[in-house]
Amino acid sequence: MSDNMPAEVRSLLKEARPTISKKMRQAVFEKSQGHCWYCGDVLSSKWHCDHIEPIRRGDGGCVSSKNFNTLHNVDNLAPACVPCNLFKSVYSLEGFRRKISYQVERTRKSSVNFRVAERFGLIRPTGNDVVFWFERMV
Ligand SMILES: [Zn+2]
Repeated sequence: MSDNMPAEVRSLLKEARPTISKKMRQAVFEKSQGHCWYCGDVLSSKWHCDHIEPIRRGDGGCVSSKNFNTLHNVDNLAPACVPCNLFKSVYSLEGFRRKISYQVERTRKSSVNFRVAERFGLIRPTGNDVVFWFERMV
């Protein structure tokens, strides 16, 4: 970062991509013994540290520095597989749950293949609630 960058801008940029120490990353990994916090898949070596409550809002804005310190800690970090973390993006836990629950209807509307497979009984949506791996482990 440039030395003549205003401190406020420097702080916002740092918050946008916070550092996670090896020790912190290991503590996050151990929360699930190597499973994705959300889907339960065994994590690959490229797993992500997800902020359960995002440090950036869905509208692209940044949270205040006060919130940042509250949110950037092991309690708010979860080990996530790459697909879950990328799909969750800046959503909250409940926003992520809603986003997943819309997928059957979205796929039905957008995919003739899905509708054909459903019509012939090859796909049967369950109507189940979205339950994350960490919720099943309680
Ligand atoms: Zn996952």
